[in-house]
Amino acid sequence: MAAEGKYTLEKITYLKQWTDHLFSFRTTRDEAFKFIPGQFARLGVRAGNNKDDKIIWRPYSIVSADYDEELEFYSIIVPDGEFTQRLKTLKVGDEILVDKTNYGLLTTDRFENGKHLWLLSTGTGLAPFISIMYDFQIWEQYEKVILVHCARNSDELAYQELINEFYTSEIYADMVKDKLIYVKLLTRENEHADLYGRITELLDNHGLENHVQITITVEDSRIMICGNPAMVDDTRKLLAKRGLVISRRGKPGNMAVENYW
Ligand SMILES: Cc1cc2nc3c(=O)[nH]c(=O)nc-3n(C[C@H](O)[C@H](O)[C@H](O)COP(=O)(O)OP(=O)(O)OC[C@H]3O[C@@H](n4cnc5c(N)ncnc54)[C@H](O)[C@@H]3O)c2cc1C
Repeated sequence: MAAEGKYTLEKITYLKQWTDHLFSFRTTRDEAFKFIPGQFARLGVRAGNNKDDKIIWRPYSIVSADYDEELEFYSIIVPDGEFTQRLKTLKVGDEILVDKTNYGLLTTDRFENGKHLWLLSTGTGLAPFISIMYDFQIWEQYEKVILVHCARNSDELAYQELINEFYTSEIYADMVKDKLIYVKLLTRENEHADLYGRITELLDNHGLENHVQITITVEDSRIMICGNPAMVDDTRKLLAKRGLVISRRGKPGNMAVENYW
């Protein structure tokens, strides 16, 4: 838990509700707060309305670019969740605490070489990959970047518009348009998606690789996995059977993972 002096008081500047249980918000950003795309911040909310009320802290992946003036986050609302039940009551102008330290190892600097960067996410696990897509370096480094977002229903496929803007944006289009492959997966709906099924199923039956026409190999693939812990674990095991290993400090491999709970 961050002690006083270890955090800054920021303000909510923007809220966007995607569904009844998914929303995004932005906060002001302290000039001194630095992070590497893919990392998370620790956010704090007071349990009640008094300034002495206990602070509840949770890690949150940063959606925004590292050069952005604000910080954006993408959140689930958990029924009975201590943090999110409080978070969902915040309005523009309300205060939120941000730990001064940046955290996390879901960063592309863990990889060496490689041609294809795979970003595999479920639900809000998409968040760090948007920040990574804003990183100019990945577009220089990789021949293809395959962003996979898996949700249950199409209304949960948040950020589609923003992701599609990478293909046309003045800043990014030239770098991105021949490299980004965006794949939407749904598990409970057969329409409005590129593929139907879970990430693990589509890796197991090669449906995902067939769809993007790229084969996952030890040599070429660098794979980041984020979101639901069961998906992260099962995907990691499936890929390990094909010889891919987690990147460790001083021992670069093919995979980097982050579990959300
Ligand atoms: C490194 C890291 C980064 C994270 N980044 C994000 C993020 O960008 N966005 C986000 O919404 N959450 C993120 N989380 C989860 C987040 O920290 C909280 O767990 C979540 O906000 C719920 O808090 P809570 O107190 O309401 O419920 P908790 O008591 O923390 O969680 C209750 C239960 O809710 C479920 N749950 C928690 N988080 C999620 C989720 N994201 N999606 C689906 N089910 C969930 C789990 O079953 C969990 O056991 C991250 C977690 C970690 C460890």
